Amino acid sequence: PQKIFTDPDGYQKIKAPALNVDEGDRIKATFVTLARNSDLWSLAESIRAVEDRFNNKFHYDWVFLNDDEFSEEFKRVTTSLCSGTTKYGFIEKDQWGFPSWIDTEKAAKVRQEMKEKKIIYGDSISYRHMCRYESGFFFRHKLMEDYEWYWRVEPSIKIYCDINYDIFKFMRDNNKVYGFTISLPEYKETIPTLWETTREFTKEHPEYLPENNMLDFISDDNGNTYNGCHFWSNFEVGSLSFWRSDAYLKYFEHLDKAGGFFYERWGDAPVHSIAAALFLPRDKIHFFGDLGYYHVPFHNCPADKDIRDQNRCLCNPKDDFTWKGYSCVGKYFSVNKLKRPSGWEDLTD
Ligand code: GDP
Ligand code: MN
Repeated sequence: PQKIFTDPDGYQKIKAPALNVDEGDRIKATFVTLARNSDLWSLAESIRAVEDRFNNKFHYDWVFLNDDEFSEEFKRVTTSLCSGTTKYGFIEKDQWGFPSWIDTEKAAKVRQEMKEKKIIYGDSISYRHMCRYESGFFFRHKLMEDYEWYWRVEPSIKIYCDINYDIFKFMRDNNKVYGFTISLPEYKETIPTLWETTREFTKEHPEYLPENNMLDFISDDNGNTYNGCHFWSNFEVGSLSFWRSDAYLKYFEHLDKAGGFFYERWGDAPVHSIAAALFLPRDKIHFFGDLGYYHVPFHNCPADKDIRDQNRCLCNPKDDFTWKGYSCVGKYFSVNKLKRPSGWEDLTD
């Protein structure tokens, strides 16, 4: 039966019945989206995709974060689209601004140089605050304290296939910590000293690296250099406790003090990925090859036609990026000795 449900803000909504949800075994999980008010309509498409393909069966909550106050319209529209409870959080200025130890003139000079070199977002201040926030703070926001698991969603993404199982339970029950859909090398110009800064940290803290970590995914010369492979962080399904661990918090602090979020343009994707590859046993990282995902300009379309048919995928496998030469997913399968899905050979370039 359809249930009328009143959310904490007093909005009433009618929800489809949840699928096989055992309320006694409810996972503490939420979607999380960092967004501006101007992102509303491109975000609405993402929410609609996630709800239609997954969350209308599970009704997980959705946390929205912003460095500005959300507009009434933003809250009304997103609340109407989400089947779970929606929460709206403000980001304090100390987490979205230049830290005291940053030389803002030096940072301004770098932005000018990056602009001349036409490096993407190279001249942007807000993009740097965004990357630093996603690297070091989203999992510590007050509203996130209620949760142990998250799925990050960005504006204008697509989910191509039905997801007929509880992704969060899957993560928990299979001892996974971090899940991704797309992986590729980072632009080296944005992270010239990220690896040496990381190496300073790991030399000081070898105790944080489990023996069976995934160094061989991010380095082709046993840690001498970083090959740039990273999990694209516009999609992430993961455990919040990993980001809240001593290893990660200390790592982030070390990076933050080094200043590369502002003196270079370190992205949250390589930061998260390097941490996951170094501080986790390799089997805790999961590639979601069955969801179908798009964030401009890359598609993940399941290679196996049975999966595409069973899950009513709305993507052309010819567009898939996963098995192309520039993707790092092939390396992920090789270093972990995983069996590639049937049909992958047809999708190479
Ligand atoms: P790209 O995917 O790297 O091109 O970057 P996006 O423009 O998609 O930004 C990444 C995420 O951060 C998206 O969820 C954006 O909505 C969000 N975002 C980017 N800049 C800002 C900002 O200045 N303020 C807020 N509140 N969110 C931002
Ligand atoms: Mn984006």
